[in-house]
Amino acid sequence: MVLGMETRTADGTGSPASSGAVAAAPPSSLSPSRAGDFMQCPLLYRFRVIDKLPERPTEAATRGTLVHAVLERLFDAPAAERTVPRATALVPGQWERLREARPEVAELFADDPEGERLARWLGEAERLVERWFTLEDPTRLEPAERELFVEAELESGLRLRGIIDRVDVASTGEVRIVDYKTGKAPRPEYAEGALFQMKFYALVVWRLRKVVPRRLQLVYLGSGDVLTYDPVVADLERVERKLLALWEAIRLATETGDWRPRPTKLCGWCDHRAVCPEFGGTPPPYPLPVRAPVAGGDAQGRMGRD
Ligand code: SF4
Repeated sequence: MVLGMETRTADGTGSPASSGAVAAAPPSSLSPSRAGDFMQCPLLYRFRVIDKLPERPTEAATRGTLVHAVLERLFDAPAAERTVPRATALVPGQWERLREARPEVAELFADDPEGERLARWLGEAERLVERWFTLEDPTRLEPAERELFVEAELESGLRLRGIIDRVDVASTGEVRIVDYKTGKAPRPEYAEGALFQMKFYALVVWRLRKVVPRRLQLVYLGSGDVLTYDPVVADLERVERKLLALWEAIRLATETGDWRPRPTKLCGWCDHRAVCPEFGGTPPPYPLPVRAPVAGGDAQGRMGRD
């Protein structure tokens, strides 16, 4: 069953809660980010989706949001005016707008009264925007969609959703899905993990438009690389099977309250170490009703991106 598409802003929609308490509820849909959370660490997924524990904004993630907003807004200008100076001139205004939409990001520079660190950070955002012009030519692009919210329900009832940075549609009807990354391109052996998100979006678009996207394109502004992949139906069917298995594991964990920590080097970036048993902490009381776990069930130990 198809749900739909709509354009949204880049102001962090779909991010973990960044402030305030929100009532706990069982998960009702899956996005690429949250699917990635569960594959990385089921307990992290629980903290973000069930408990909705607040997380502090980071400079890197906030810069990513800012750069995405600039690249989106640049396409408001006529093609010939989409220049580097025009794009970098958007940075201060979009930062202002982001601070209004998400006041907590101002905390990042609360200890920077002279504004030196903020100026450096804004300069880094400008350099990422500049680098984009070495990878794509916005004067020759007319995106069909920008920051497109998509949602589709599979026959199983699983609801998939996400926000696609850019959708290009050629005169032939061929669809290209583009995602900007402000970090560096992964090493080739990790490319499959990076493509998981894109195949997720391709599956949703396929379900919504009945057309398999011709190309998936990841634009890495941090390293100046472009990673592309041309999916076929078998790829998307494989991703669908993977997501169904993932959703089943999430459903079981939700019902039993059995969310296992999976420590990796990524724990260094986790905001929830203070309440993680792997670091001597105790999770908050589980806020949902539970039933006894099934003996021998270990689906959480088998989750991976491929
Ligand atoms: S600290 Fe590591 S193991 Fe604990 S919840 Fe976070 S990611 Fe999972």
